[in-house]
Amino acid sequence: MPEGDVLLRVARRLSLALSDRPLLRGELRWPSLAGHDLTGLRSVGTVSYGKHLLTRLDDGRTLHTHLRMDGTWQVRHTADPPEPLRRPNVRAVLGTDQWTCVGLQLGMMDLVRTREEASLLRHLGPDLMADDPDLDTAVANLQADPERPIGEALLDQSVAAGIGTIYLAETLWRHRINPWRSSSGVQAPRELFATAHRLMRRSADGPSLTATGDTRAGHTTHVHGREGRGCRRCRTLIVVAPIGVEPMTRPAYYCPACQPD
Ligand SMILES: [Zn+2]
Repeated sequence: MPEGDVLLRVARRLSLALSDRPLLRGELRWPSLAGHDLTGLRSVGTVSYGKHLLTRLDDGRTLHTHLRMDGTWQVRHTADPPEPLRRPNVRAVLGTDQWTCVGLQLGMMDLVRTREEASLLRHLGPDLMADDPDLDTAVANLQADPERPIGEALLDQSVAAGIGTIYLAETLWRHRINPWRSSSGVQAPRELFATAHRLMRRSADGPSLTATGDTRAGHTTHVHGREGRGCRRCRTLIVVAPIGVEPMTRPAYYCPACQPD
């Protein structure tokens, strides 16, 4: 599932592609939105909140989408042949005379009044991709369940929004914290959220996605996806284990030497 850095980049691409020109196509292929056609409206920008996307329209409404597991937004020249737009996995087609944004396999779609956007986000913790994220609230949310493993809590979007399995692994490795340590056993929880924020923003703002700052293939993570390979700090073999409560477990990668129990 894509994380905050990916979503911020997608939001920026949608904003650029759709800015200042009327939609010549505005199709929503979503059962609850049947009959809604956005043709003729203009996008006034797309923002991300955690893993959610909010595309604001000039009629005072917002199209809310979520990629879930397999969703993507592709941007293509409107003049290109239209064949892909007929695929059954296309959920949305927003096109100006220049660019067309195609939402594939989206996992969620709503159309709400822009002033009521907050109602969609009420269940989420503070957005870690924000310029100045509300880290105090993230820490307070974390401390509400002190016995919960820290790795599980970091994945919970109601604690703080934006972290997935990559930044769970990379953040805890940097702080040398085992993913199963209780949240109350973490000495400086604010610093954890600050690190996740900093790493994801650097990745979103850089030339391509990277959790390490290095954009070369095979060098973009310290631990995530590196099971059985040497820790970049101590050469101990990286391991992976499921974290969370069945059936919602997710893989947590860590170094057993740098991040002991
Ligand atoms: Zn190590």
